Amino acid sequence: MPSKAKPVYVYYPDNLGEFLQLRRRKPDALVYAGGTYILKGTETRLVPLPQEVISLQWVEELKRVSRTDRYVELGAGCSLARIVEVGRNVLPGSFVQAFSTVAPMGVISLATIGGNLSVEDHVLSSYPLILAADSRIELRRHGNARWIPAGRLRDERGQLTFESGEIISRIRVPLETWNVQVFASFGRPYIWESEPVVFAGLAKTDTGVVDDFRMVFSAHGRILFRNRELEAELVGRRAPLPAREAQSFIRRLEGLLAETTSSAGSRLSSLQRRRVLGSARRMIARFSG
Ligand SMILES: Cc1cc2nc3c(=O)[nH]c(=O)nc-3n(C[C@H](O)[C@H](O)[C@H](O)COP(=O)(O)OP(=O)(O)OC[C@H]3O[C@@H](n4cnc5c(N)ncnc54)[C@H](O)[C@@H]3O)c2cc1C
Repeated sequence: MPSKAKPVYVYYPDNLGEFLQLRRRKPDALVYAGGTYILKGTETRLVPLPQEVISLQWVEELKRVSRTDRYVELGAGCSLARIVEVGRNVLPGSFVQAFSTVAPMGVISLATIGGNLSVEDHVLSSYPLILAADSRIELRRHGNARWIPAGRLRDERGQLTFESGEIISRIRVPLETWNVQVFASFGRPYIWESEPVVFAGLAKTDTGVVDDFRMVFSAHGRILFRNRELEAELVGRRAPLPAREAQSFIRRLEGLLAETTSSAGSRLSSLQRRRVLGSARRMIARFSG
């Protein structure tokens, strides 16, 4: 006799309050945003889902985008395509480039920024940029809301730091003028064999001095690299940067890459190291002599 598939109950709350209450009552239910990661690799019509699913589809509060003089606030339920559309003349150009190239158009019109930041096992493409921009993230659960710096969304092993019942509700991206912006994505962040690297670099150098410099990259196994000491080495230096100083920075980075390991202890492959170094060189070349 063919075995009967268990029914899946899908809840569609139509506002944030209702969503958070449901989440409290059903802590094991799966939060479903665009579904592009949850359904990734599913080839049959029968989708393996847990017994209870809470969809964000009708929660309009999570789809809002607002702007002040100092920052843009993105609702976690905004699709990457919508962020590209509304952010074109507002967000740093590298955000628009990053979000529009993360995946095919059909995928980015469904995939949400909240979902992209919340995949437990992999650091996906938006996080390095969100981190480099010193963004802040709002986490909510029933009866509580808190803002954290983006760097605290994951711990030193790369694991998400959500507390029970929390979801990402908003992402606040500071509006600053970066005259050097580099975003580069190699391989697929969740496919180890593709030797993935996502590189994000932002710098301000248009006053003849390096006023600010930030560099973040992610790789397989939740590797996340940001070294503020290394960044600080360039801040305050003359721009264009003398070739000798640029080379010494790259050598220092090379040394750090050799020591970088994933949470499971694996190292960057030589191709991954070349990918990072090539992106860093490309960034530095934009303001060196
Ligand atoms: C062909 C293809 C290529 C792709 N290439 C890339 C790529 O190169 N880089 C890349 O980054 N991604 C890539 N993706 C994946 C896609 O970009 C991400 O899967 C997407 O951003 C996830 O968002 P989602 O809304 O679909 O999340 P979902 O699949 O709905 O959810 C993902 C996870 O996040 C949780 N979640 C969702 N929203 C929230 C929230 N607000 N708060 C807390 N938890 C939440 C869910 O419970 C689930 O665990 C690709 C996908 C496909 C199909």
